[in-house]
Amino acid sequence: MSTMGEVSYKCPYCGKEFDYETQFSYTIFGKMLDFRPYGAACVPTPVPKCPECGFVFFENSFSENEINKLKEKIKTDDIFKTEPDMPNYYYLAREFELLDRNIDDIIHYYQCAIWQGCFTEKLSNILFSYIDKVDINNKNYYPYKLIQIDLLRRMSRFDMAADLITTLKNDSAFPKNYGKLLDYQLILTEQKDTDEHEMSETQLVKYKNPHVRMAIANLDEERWYDLSKIPDEVKTEDFWLEVVSVHGQVFRQVPEKMKNYKMYLAVVKADGLSLENIPRKFLTEKICLAAIKNEKGDHRLKFVPDEFKTPEICLNAVKKNGTNLRYVPEELKTSEMCLIAAKESNYSLLFDIIPKHLLTPEICLEAVKNNFSLSVVPPKLRTPELCLIAVREHGSNLEDVPEDLKTPQMCQIAVQKYVSWGYNLRYVPEKFKTKKICHDAVQNFGLALEHVPEEFKTPELCLAAVQKCGLALEYVPEKLKTPELCLIADQYDGNLLNMPRESKTQKIRLLAVQKQGGSLFFVPEELKTPELCLAAVQNDPWALNAVPEELKTPELCLAAVQNERLCLEFVPKKLKTLIRNGAGICAPKIQNV
Ligand SMILES: [Zn+2]
Repeated sequence: MSTMGEVSYKCPYCGKEFDYETQFSYTIFGKMLDFRPYGAACVPTPVPKCPECGFVFFENSFSENEINKLKEKIKTDDIFKTEPDMPNYYYLAREFELLDRNIDDIIHYYQCAIWQGCFTEKLSNILFSYIDKVDINNKNYYPYKLIQIDLLRRMSRFDMAADLITTLKNDSAFPKNYGKLLDYQLILTEQKDTDEHEMSETQLVKYKNPHVRMAIANLDEERWYDLSKIPDEVKTEDFWLEVVSVHGQVFRQVPEKMKNYKMYLAVVKADGLSLENIPRKFLTEKICLAAIKNEKGDHRLKFVPDEFKTPEICLNAVKKNGTNLRYVPEELKTSEMCLIAAKESNYSLLFDIIPKHLLTPEICLEAVKNNFSLSVVPPKLRTPELCLIAVREHGSNLEDVPEDLKTPQMCQIAVQKYVSWGYNLRYVPEKFKTKKICHDAVQNFGLALEHVPEEFKTPELCLAAVQKCGLALEYVPEKLKTPELCLIADQYDGNLLNMPRESKTQKIRLLAVQKQGGSLFFVPEELKTPELCLAAVQNDPWALNAVPEELKTPELCLAAVQNERLCLEFVPKKLKTLIRNGAGICAPKIQNV
């Protein structure tokens, strides 16, 4: 972006006040070979010129003393009158020249004048004469030489440009990072190219064909993809081969008759074409391997014909993407390959495609780390280390730990690490149920009280359980059910929403709907029993809406409608009359009278 705006200036030479369009900010994308920046910008940035006397200046760039000195000089050498209609920067350069100021500024301003469109023999020669005055101690010594080469070439003075290139190539002090620039200028000079070129193109110096360079440079910069801008006669087979080797995606523009094996190979190496788009007659092991090795060749093993699926291709494919394992022929799968696949991918079905006889503890470890349940690991591979890691990942994995491998430490982790893990107390062997572990489990999750041995159910523990979840009252021994404890339990609202699934036993569901009939809405359809539905409807007639049609018995509907006649809405059609009569409700018509 370039931001422009009018700014007021006062001419330091004649005192005239005027407005001038000024550039405040801009964006530069890159540089041309003569170091001219290009981008969303006015280059060179506009410099104000007095409309009265023609003086060109940047604010504060001249002292009063210098202005007076200039006035003296201009008396005899009026550059504004003798050389009218020159670019603003030309006058600025001349003013600096008259004041004998810094040579780098003078060179820069002459260069700006050329950029302003005044690329003449005369101006170039002035510029060259200044460049000649600069010695090796100036930090711009070499950039100036490079500018000179570019201007010479663009002026068709190819021999002079080539001479200068040779001189610099033999100059041991020439900076290495400019080396490619010399190579590129040499190519352009040899090709008698007088166009302007971008600095970034120098990296394409290995491409001798200028059309290839142009195509690749534009594709690199994402300026255009349509190569129809380049004349057909220069788009030879070699042209296409070089371009698709870098930008595979333009392959679609290659004329059919030029598509050959070499080009397909180049394209799969560069990406831009997946194996599925390559005609079968061109597919070879080499092409398949090149495609698989390609950075973006993710799922391509699918498109490799079976006869080319070598161990090398398969291993490469699996390294790229573990899910490729599913396209590896059974006889080529190895434990090593499966482990790579397991590590590379956490794809949830992967475990099913690893043959059971190739499973190793390492593969199972990857599976468990990737959220697989310990239950998928064959019992003989459930090592103590694996079980401990599995339990750390998910406490409920304790269920699938072989009894003889469960340790007190493992059980403690399984019930304690997270709040909802308390209920895993049910997988803790009786011999490890200590007072502490029961307490920790109940503290995490009240309903864990269900699995606490009777001798540990102290009044304190029962209170803790009921405070966590009122429904835990169910598991409090009768003798400990004090009125206070029941009162606390009663405050629990019977909401099933926030409870872990595994703790919702049928008994708990019944207690919940008895407390809050609406909880029936959160019970899965297949678990809604007649008993549960009746209990829910007796507590809240609106729960009838959550009762499955086949469970809406006359008895149940009546229980609901007797309490809330508006619930008649949820009574099945065939029962409506019966229920209406049973509940003593008048037909709507009569009711409205
Ligand atoms: Zn003026």
